Amino acid sequence: MKILSGLSVAQGIVIGTAMLYLEDDYPEIPRYTVSGDQVSGELDRFARAVKDAAEELCALKENSREVKGRQNAIFDAHLLMVEDPDFHYQIQVRIESEYENIEWIVWEVARELTQKLMVSPDPYLRERAVDIADVSRRIINHLMGIKRFSLASLDRDVILVANNLLPSDALSMNKSRVKALVMNMGSPTSHTAILAKAFGIPSVFGVSGATRKITADDILIVDGGKGKVILDPDEETLERYKGSVADYQKNFAQLLGLGEFPAETMDGHRVALKANIEIPGEAEELFRYGAEGIGLYRSEFLFMQSGQNADEETQYQAYRSVIRAMKGKPVTIRTVDLGGDKLLSSLQTAQESNPLLGCRAIRFSLSLPEMFKTQLRAILRASVEGQVKIMFPMISGIEELEEAVSILEEAKGECRRRAQAYADTIEVGTMIETPAAVMTADYLAERSDFFSIGTNDLIQYALAVDRGNEKVSYLAQPTHPAVLRLIKATIDSAHAAGISAAMCGELAGDLPMAPLLLGLGLDEFSMTAISIPAVKHIIRSVNYEKCRDLAYEALNCPSWKQVRTLLENWM
Ligand code: PEP
Ligand code: MG
Repeated sequence: MKILSGLSVAQGIVIGTAMLYLEDDYPEIPRYTVSGDQVSGELDRFARAVKDAAEELCALKENSREVKGRQNAIFDAHLLMVEDPDFHYQIQVRIESEYENIEWIVWEVARELTQKLMVSPDPYLRERAVDIADVSRRIINHLMGIKRFSLASLDRDVILVANNLLPSDALSMNKSRVKALVMNMGSPTSHTAILAKAFGIPSVFGVSGATRKITADDILIVDGGKGKVILDPDEETLERYKGSVADYQKNFAQLLGLGEFPAETMDGHRVALKANIEIPGEAEELFRYGAEGIGLYRSEFLFMQSGQNADEETQYQAYRSVIRAMKGKPVTIRTVDLGGDKLLSSLQTAQESNPLLGCRAIRFSLSLPEMFKTQLRAILRASVEGQVKIMFPMISGIEELEEAVSILEEAKGECRRRAQAYADTIEVGTMIETPAAVMTADYLAERSDFFSIGTNDLIQYALAVDRGNEKVSYLAQPTHPAVLRLIKATIDSAHAAGISAAMCGELAGDLPMAPLLLGLGLDEFSMTAISIPAVKHIIRSVNYEKCRDLAYEALNCPSWKQVRTLLENWM
């Protein structure tokens, strides 16, 4: 028996068998010279790989018939590209002049083509660049004999062990078969972690060497809450954990019973508890956990699911289904936060050396105003179905907020011209995720109907800690005095301007933090739905005045360790 330690990402205990998923890394493409005699052999290999890739695409198209529409159109486009005579001609000319192996030639030709298209002002051509990258990768995989296993086709229960599953992999995997997730890399606020929590998959990330130490079909116990993975457990440990699984399920069922009660302290201070969602289907489940609305709908996952820019109708249908499922309760839709680790294609990473400081979130949307306006129109049209709020991510100053609001006004004008109705009560909120936004919160508050603090990013940018990097995650301490002061300053600015202060970062669902956040004056907590019952339980068992004293004391502690000790001893 061996115990592997990592970072606690998503609660829950699972006993099961391991499946290693090692295909998330792109292998290096070999490069070597070939003789003149070998060229025709290389071209034959290319022809065979093209044929195999085309057959694979036909099969994928057939299997995804029920998805219809856009997804099938993508396979059709890729089929055309795989056999494109111009692409084939360029490859032939190139190998006959450069005498290098065919994998390398395909890679080079595709790279040049995509780079040319990526800088085109035409969004259609930029999208084609994504397709070329995808198609060429498929051909290269066939040339190198790499069989890509699709996590979507998992047909047995497994504990998935990976190096670094991307958010797009997590989205597409067969979630009902992934019972737990263990990764070498990643941290609790990475987007893959957020998805694992949303799907209720117990997870431990940052387990150094997990893919080396664990082999396929090993028996594992994953304790998500403690950040522990037990490899080949002995009989006694197995029995003990079977008992823990039962206790965990019983406790959770009891907490679910709190569903209908308000999130109110013993002395009558009431706050709102809402849910964060990533995919529309999650909305159906939220009342079960006692959510009073959706505080954050991460709309970018709609785009990532298909790997493409979703059109207005697709978006409208998705937003409408979420709003309808909430039956009049508030739904806060965040405009897309693409970029960073949430990419529409691998091309976006290739373009930026510091993607977290690059063109992500509102910057990405403002750089593509037509795409932004399309999203805003879809939200506006859906807004008549319930109570909708719009929120802009990663605002770093007043100019960005004003520009976003003015594009929203343009979108409203377009809806009016098309005689499309929208609600006239839509609140517009600002996400507070950068220290710059906190420092200018008084100005931002004048132009916002509410604030929502995105602590995952705020902590990352304030403490200079990459939120996805397990090597520095020990520094991402939410009780750091700088973080507490930033939260306090945001809440105070919101209240001074008469608007509410919400939090939708992972910290809002962090149990020991709940009394402190209450004491700091937070009005709304938005979190992964399954965390709501436990947070509600804490809120209902504390006294607001005492929480205020706790906050005062915490704000006077010089170190995160002292604040943590204070919290541990407080409850
Ligand atoms: C945050 O940064 O805290 C947040 C809620 O947004 P995301 O995690 O999607 O970046
Ligand atoms: Mg964020």
